[in-house]
Amino acid sequence: MEMEGSVYRAHCLVVTYPSQGHINPMMQFSKRLDHKGVKVTLVITNFISKTMHKEASSNIALETISDGYDEGGKAEAESIHRYLDRFRRVGSQTLIQLIEKLSSLGGPVDCVVYDPFLPWALDIAKKFGLVGAAFFTQSCAVDNIYYHVHKGALKLPLSETEILLSGLPPLQSQDMPSFIYDFRSYPAYYDILVGQFSNFDKADWVLVNTFYELEQEVVDWMAKMWPLRTVGPTIPSMFLDRRIEDDKEYGVSIFKPNTDACMKWLNDRSKGSVVYVSFGSVATLKVEQMEEIAWGLRMSNRFFLWVVRASEEAKLPKNFVEESSEKGLVVRWCPQLEILTHEAVGCFVTHCGWNSTLEALSFGVPMIAVPHWSDQSTNAKYIMDIWKMGLKVPVDEKGLVKQEAIEDCIREIMEGERGEEIKKNALKWRKLARDAVDEGGSSDKNIEEFVAKLVHS
Ligand code: UDP
Repeated sequence: MEMEGSVYRAHCLVVTYPSQGHINPMMQFSKRLDHKGVKVTLVITNFISKTMHKEASSNIALETISDGYDEGGKAEAESIHRYLDRFRRVGSQTLIQLIEKLSSLGGPVDCVVYDPFLPWALDIAKKFGLVGAAFFTQSCAVDNIYYHVHKGALKLPLSETEILLSGLPPLQSQDMPSFIYDFRSYPAYYDILVGQFSNFDKADWVLVNTFYELEQEVVDWMAKMWPLRTVGPTIPSMFLDRRIEDDKEYGVSIFKPNTDACMKWLNDRSKGSVVYVSFGSVATLKVEQMEEIAWGLRMSNRFFLWVVRASEEAKLPKNFVEESSEKGLVVRWCPQLEILTHEAVGCFVTHCGWNSTLEALSFGVPMIAVPHWSDQSTNAKYIMDIWKMGLKVPVDEKGLVKQEAIEDCIREIMEGERGEEIKKNALKWRKLARDAVDEGGSSDKNIEEFVAKLVHS
């Protein structure tokens, strides 16, 4: 620990998994810790460090470890299994070296906050006798489902259509994460997700990027067994409680946002008139699916702002961008927080990645759920039926979201009675999310407790 005046400053190493949806929440949690007086070092991979766009607002110290692919090639690695195996070997070695280096430079580490996609980081923390805190980047409900699988309490492949699990509402099989209802579709990801629990009994803390009021029942159930604390939503403070003045953006962006074009275009649109569409940083859609979405947006006759990553662009119908230019703007990446808080945006067609879901909940933006894979189907179920914050677009017999279905949902949200109800709920969640991170809120108190125990451990 470092002495500053007469006060001890604990030092946390925050070890991230290299994807946007995992780096963002851990970076934000780091800023909250920093604000509460903890010294924080965020650990990213060499490759991310070389390729990222660093935004102005982040003054958190960065260090790197290696995943064994410093020149990239993660996606091209023969299989995700192989990638993770190499990451575990090379990552462990380089994390050990980093902890030793920081110690020899006079900044010894007290605690490792790690992404449970990398359970070996906890083993290393324990080897050094450090505090270990798992930081889950998915919802508590989803974590609970994988925990049941890990324990053998949910047998796969699923044999029933209705699934009853402690802490959760009755779920249909298609409400389960895709790696569970479509068992063996991605064995490597399934292994990562279930593997999060392989050693987590050794963790001193289980932190989850959610907030108590959002997932009360499942949090209460899980907190009976573990030192679980909700610490989210991990969204830059200036968009929520406004207590950390320079915290206006996530800080690290894997893609370069097209900010000026987006904001200029949105500023010319009237309140609530724009449909914002994004499927996050990872999802790859089938050509057929891209076409249905494109025609659905066209048929809705609404203004739309659609994020299509460069690697997905070729799947757009020919001349779609040019022919839609009066109504729509298509960009490769955008500053999503600024978009979702812009008054012109009336609804969000989303893949329901957990960060996007939390962002829309926190800003009161109604969602139109088009889940792609992983936990997104479970998030979509909660969005529509539990939080009543949006609609899930039905799929046809091939699992495809058709253009008419998209158009229907857009109309229902933008002008229908159900839309009114959803907008009312959206405002309720916006307030609850802000209150959770504001002074004395449920997440704020949990972070305070974590910090207080760290200083005294
Ligand atoms: N995001 C962004 N610009 C975009 C699209 C997404 O900044 O054009 C951010 C978004 O705000 C969120 C993250 O990328 O924080 C995506 O995370 P999410 O969990 O929603 O999805 P994933 O990318 O992991 O599938």
